[in-house]
Amino acid sequence: MDKWEARFRTSPRYLRMFPPRSPPRISHVNATLIGLPRQWCSLIVQLQSGHIGLNAHLHRIQRSPTPNCDSCTATGNSKPETVNHFLFECPTYRKERHLMKQKLGRGADSLAHLLLGKKDTLRELIKFTGRTGRLKATFGEFCLD
Ligand SMILES: [Zn+2]
Repeated sequence: MDKWEARFRTSPRYLRMFPPRSPPRISHVNATLIGLPRQWCSLIVQLQSGHIGLNAHLHRIQRSPTPNCDSCTATGNSKPETVNHFLFECPTYRKERHLMKQKLGRGADSLAHLLLGKKDTLRELIKFTGRTGRLKATFGEFCLD
């Protein structure tokens, strides 16, 4: 967990979003996602909770031999493949991230903004994920354009 995430996790906003010992407030997301197909709602919920087909989570549930990002490991730079790594750090998705940033500006740098944002923001996040192809095993090929 980096400094920003540590600060975020103790912020009033985070505690409002994820009260201790209760699941993420999915109903809020569902409300925001009205009009979006169910699979995309699932994607947002999984990104929120971290229970998603990225190696950090897969390793925790013993479905991956490593918690680290495969493409970073291939370049000799092992980093845990967390939601944060996938959305903000992994150099493999630089191009896809750049496209999202062109639409969202600085909002593309904020987990809170991306995950509890407006419908248009969520659409850009879904497009980003589709373009990366990283979660194809869970969600299939998808594209919102
Ligand atoms: Zn990576």
